[in-house]
Amino acid sequence: MAVTEAGCDLTYCRMRGIVAVLAAFIKERKMGLNDFIQKLVSTPHICQHVEVNSLLKIDENQNEEVENNQHPESPMCLNSQSSLAEDTQIKPCDFDYLRIIGKGSFGKVLLARHKESTQYYAVKVLQKKIILKKKEQKHIMAERSVLMKNIKHPFLVGLHYSFQTNDKLYFVLDYVNGGELFYHLQRERVFLEPRARFYAAEIASALGYLHSLHIVYRDLKPENILLDSQGHIVLTDFGLCKEGLEPSGTTTTFCGTPEYLAPEVLQKQAYDRTVDWWCLGSVLYEMLYGLPPFYSRNTAEMYNNILHKAPVLKPNVSNAGRELLEGLLQKDRTKRLGVKDDFLG
Ligand code: ADP
Ligand code: MG
Repeated sequence: MAVTEAGCDLTYCRMRGIVAVLAAFIKERKMGLNDFIQKLVSTPHICQHVEVNSLLKIDENQNEEVENNQHPESPMCLNSQSSLAEDTQIKPCDFDYLRIIGKGSFGKVLLARHKESTQYYAVKVLQKKIILKKKEQKHIMAERSVLMKNIKHPFLVGLHYSFQTNDKLYFVLDYVNGGELFYHLQRERVFLEPRARFYAAEIASALGYLHSLHIVYRDLKPENILLDSQGHIVLTDFGLCKEGLEPSGTTTTFCGTPEYLAPEVLQKQAYDRTVDWWCLGSVLYEMLYGLPPFYSRNTAEMYNNILHKAPVLKPNVSNAGRELLEGLLQKDRTKRLGVKDDFLG
């Protein structure tokens, strides 16, 4: 038998020889990988030979197995912080999805139960398509890297696993079941000062911790502040800069709620960690007075208030409380409380 290809005659004998070499390589590693690849490349038709073919098939299958673990379609564990075995490959079907507990700009948050451990988690599912459309990959990656920085703090949501499929990213978080802080605030209208102080202190502690890791939260706002079953604060959603937060197009058009935005963010100026102390001031103000500090139904007016008006501090709050609010809601970030020593300041 002779195989003729591109003018190159390959006798059965020669081919047997090559096959033998290849077989030896594969079985006994008698040849360097480079030599092996070169042989294949220089005489591609030998791949059609039954024996070579079958040898390569074995190899292909092995490759497939390896590749499958990293294939974009197969969920892969991006995170080594997992509380289960580190090499466990977690995938979407390891969970029962019970209900939607939140909707965000890129996808949903689902209550899920891990089938094996029966443990409950909040699984944040982000659609890659939407992220790509919104050109927010950078921020998502920021969130992932923030979450993966081994952040552990009692008042910050914990990430257990993350993985991806072809079209979605999954973040498996602690399930925080006490509801959003502002759900409770809306029901009670205002909190008494000791309670507001307690929440503000916990939020401050979480922000101080993030700042110590050089992370600016930036996005402190009502729906990102949750309560756990014991009534402690848990902040979710860090690192994500969401659409609707920034004035889009004209300065008066907002897609979301600008109540908590610091003047420097509204003006698209450079900002730093002090932006978080402004937001804390806004949260504290709302807990004590029942409305955000510069609130107006008219968004343009609220925008103007944030930039130019002093917050109204009615005397039903203690002097210490009002001083704190004044310090945090200082429009000039270089004079804002926390600018010097941050959480310790
Ligand atoms: P987005 O980045 O889209 O704003 P979030 O992470 O803020 O998404 O989640 C959206 C909503 O889902 C939150 O406002 C909250 O109500 C709910 N949620 C998020 N994470 C958790 C969690 N770990 N436990 C319980 N509820 C959560
Ligand atoms: Mg959010």
